[in-house]
Parts: sequence; C-alpha cells; structure tokens
Amino acid sequence: MIVENIEHVRENIEKACKKAGRSVDEVTLIAVSKTKPYTDIEEALKSGTLDYGENKVQEMCEKYEILPKNIRWHMIGHLQRNKVKYLVGKTELIHSVDSIRLAEQIEKEYAKKDETANILIEVNMAQEESKFGITSQETEELIRKISTFEHIRIKGLMTIAPYTDNPETNRVYFRQMKKLSVDIRDKNIDNVSMDVLSMGMTGDYQVAIEEGSTMVRVGTGIFGERNYNI
Ligand SMILES: *Cc1c(COP(=O)(O)O)cnc(C)c1O
Repeated sequence: MIVENIEHVRENIEKACKKAGRSVDEVTLIAVSKTKPYTDIEEALKSGTLDYGENKVQEMCEKYEILPKNIRWHMIGHLQRNKVKYLVGKTELIHSVDSIRLAEQIEKEYAKKDETANILIEVNMAQEESKFGITSQETEELIRKISTFEHIRIKGLMTIAPYTDNPETNRVYFRQMKKLSVDIRDKNIDNVSMDVLSMGMTGDYQVAIEEGSTMVRVGTGIFGERNYNI
C-alpha cells in the first residue's frame, strides 16, 4: 500500500505542477514517517523516496541508526534546545526554527563539530494560538539576526496551515507565505536564500504547490492514519 500511496501522491504533485505551470523538479516530497515503524520506511524506500520527516529527535535518531545512511532526514517538529546536539551530522534540514534562543543553541552545537545547519524559519501565518512559529511581521528581524551566525544557513520558510476539510481555505495563507519569501529574498540579506518554501500536508498539498510550495510534507496520505496511543 505504501508504495502505491506514494505513486498516487506523486501523480497529484504532477497535476498540481502542470496546473500552475511549474516543473515537478521544483517540488520535493517529504514522507512524514513520525510515529510509524522503521519497517514502513523500508517499504517506502522501494519507491525511491529518500526524504523523510520526523517531529521527535529521539525517534529520528533511532530510525537513523537502523536505516540506510542515504536517507535525508527532515526535522519538522517543535525543537527543544537540549535536543539540538543529537541532530548534528544527521539532519538534512531543520524546518522549525522560530526563536533566536533556539538558533543560538543550533549555532553552538554545530560549531562544536564544525558543521553547518540548514534551517527554515517557521511562520505561523494563520496566527493560530495552538501553533508554534513567529508572525510574518517578526520574520525579517529574526532572519537578520540569525544570518550573522557562522554555522547556520537559512534556506527559506516553513508553515503549518490550519487543519481543514477544504484546502481552498488555506490558499490565502500559502499565498501570503510566498509573498513573504519573495519580499525577504528581495532584501538580499547575506547568507540567506529563500529557495525553499515548505508548506502543504495531506489535506492541502496540491493547493500549496499551486501557490509556490517547493517542499510538501505528506504523512497520512502515504502511511495512513497515525495512532498516538501506542
Ligand atoms: C505530522 C506533520 C505533517 C504531516 O501531516 P499529514 O496531515 O499526516 O500529512 C506535516 N508537517 C508537520 C510539521 C507535521 O507535524
């Protein structure tokens, strides 16, 4: 089932790209494997998918040890500062940086091992109280501060849109995210690129792609419903 699901998602990505006049090469599919056993990832690997998203550091590290080393791990969940050290050398991209204190910790831990962290800034575009991320108004200032850190490269922005049954209701947030990323790119801040726009999940990734997403994070649509009680 997992391989078929991935093929189905890839077809949808292709359709959305076509509709928007974009190339499929512009969009990376991240298979969100959080809470799922490593055997599910072994299955997914048969489809050629190499990008996986996890939201807990310990779970990601356990899977990292067991699974092939060519997997690209994406940290997409809220990150506690005392866990940052475990990510060094294992993480392709940290999607969820939303404070200067977290960035300082990342700088410190990556500097120790002379590595560079690739990160995204998480923006709470819909201003939902339950969500992490900064406001769009705070984004430029935070990016300017972090851009001076030697061991961090800002690659773009990430958002988690509200949960919805109708993806069209999130289009406005995706459009605002794209505009914010273009506005920041136009400021030409040293060490900052805005090539990545991580937005779109199972319920709304097609709409996100139509509005400019370059990374979609799909969990349920690939691995099925998650069970948090086990
Ligand atoms: C769980 C999660 C996803 C995947 O959500 P689905 O609706 O299952 O596709 C994507 N992004 C983040 C940040 C998540 O925590």
